[in-house]
Amino acid sequence: MEGVGAIMKICGHEYKVVIDYVNDQKRKGDAFYFGHTQFSEGLIHLSPKTKRDVQEESLIHEVLHAALFHSNSKAEHNEGQVQAMAGALYQLGVGRFLWEKFKPKEKP
Ligand SMILES: [Zn+2]
Repeated sequence: MEGVGAIMKICGHEYKVVIDYVNDQKRKGDAFYFGHTQFSEGLIHLSPKTKRDVQEESLIHEVLHAALFHSNSKAEHNEGQVQAMAGALYQLGVGRFLWEKFKPKEKP
């Protein structure tokens, strides 16, 4: 079991990353992505069953959703565009950066 890591501030709103997303591959529109964001709770859920690189890319994906939500909550979140940006930012090393900074801490 893992605890939570550092607080991530997205558009001024606090988020924590937790690795407990169990409904991977089940959600409509997000068929190939492995995370979920609860905007009202400030939680980004990532799947414990995916590889680290997939977790890192999923983290970017969810951060982009949160940024879009807080920038304009009525905006349609086009999954293809969000994932395209997540993939591009992942290639630039943004996923590793976010992961190292905000990953859940191991409980002692
Ligand atoms: Zn998505």
